Amino acid sequence: MSTGLDFAALLGEIVEECRPHAERGQLPTYIPELRKGNPRLAGIALQTARELYEAGDTRVNFTLQSISKVFSLLVAIEERGPEAVFAKVGAEPTGDPFNSIVKLETAEKKPPNPMINAGAIAVCSLIPGATVEERFGRIAGLLEAILERPITIDEAVYRSEKETGHRNRSLAYFLKDINCLEGDVEEVLDLYFRQCSILVNCADLARIGMFFATKGINGADTPLVSARAVRLVSTFMVTCGMYNGSGEFAIQVGIPAKSGVSGGILGVVPGRFGVATFGPALDRKGNSVVGISMLKRLSEVLDFSIF
Ligand code: GLU
Repeated sequence: MSTGLDFAALLGEIVEECRPHAERGQLPTYIPELRKGNPRLAGIALQTARELYEAGDTRVNFTLQSISKVFSLLVAIEERGPEAVFAKVGAEPTGDPFNSIVKLETAEKKPPNPMINAGAIAVCSLIPGATVEERFGRIAGLLEAILERPITIDEAVYRSEKETGHRNRSLAYFLKDINCLEGDVEEVLDLYFRQCSILVNCADLARIGMFFATKGINGADTPLVSARAVRLVSTFMVTCGMYNGSGEFAIQVGIPAKSGVSGGILGVVPGRFGVATFGPALDRKGNSVVGISMLKRLSEVLDFSIF
């Protein structure tokens, strides 16, 4: 970028300044395998059309977790159309935690939005395919096309969540009861747990952010999904991507973003660049403490809020 700033140095300073904030957060305990993370890890990456800038632990692999929800939503919108998707899931933010069940029995009797667990599980049920493998292949295929490399899942995290994901299991059965989940409940859960276990690193996430920033164009200038689907999903990232912390994040950072409980945050500065952070210690809303402070700092320096 032609701002005269030394980006590599700036990112390095931000990582070191914000890394100690990990003390204010905690590793997630409800997925046993994620308890083994190192809360002191911190990385930040920024992908422009031409260059990747990065600092800190940007090449450490972690699981996508909730960040995967943006890919299944893109695939569902592309394959089934927005009407079919929004018949099963709402479009409103919620002040409830990411794994809450409470809204399913009140309001519209459908999950409030596709970024919370209940909504994402409903969306998974809409991905076409005869088998879980085939359906997973559509989600993984999109990611592989964006990253231009094969992807793998973390088998230990996948098994850990499949064995202990009782709350997600109850959400899924409840969704079936209120007619918001198509097909076999256990197969849909299997797909959801698999997508959450996809391995990426912070540099990958910045590249994915650039894909969103350019409305679905990958490095080779090929539109992988429609600009309309990217716009819809980016809008959800603004209103619900940081769960019930989305409002404060919009004020402090001001960009479409999606967090995951393994500590990643995918950020999009529309038309300009992708930005991503990694830091496994989470705040009470399930967002990376170090990640948010790094993005806040970078947004101040580069003045990239879209508002
Ligand atoms: N796999 C996690 C779960 O379903 C995803 C939640 C998250 O990353 O916020 O609980």
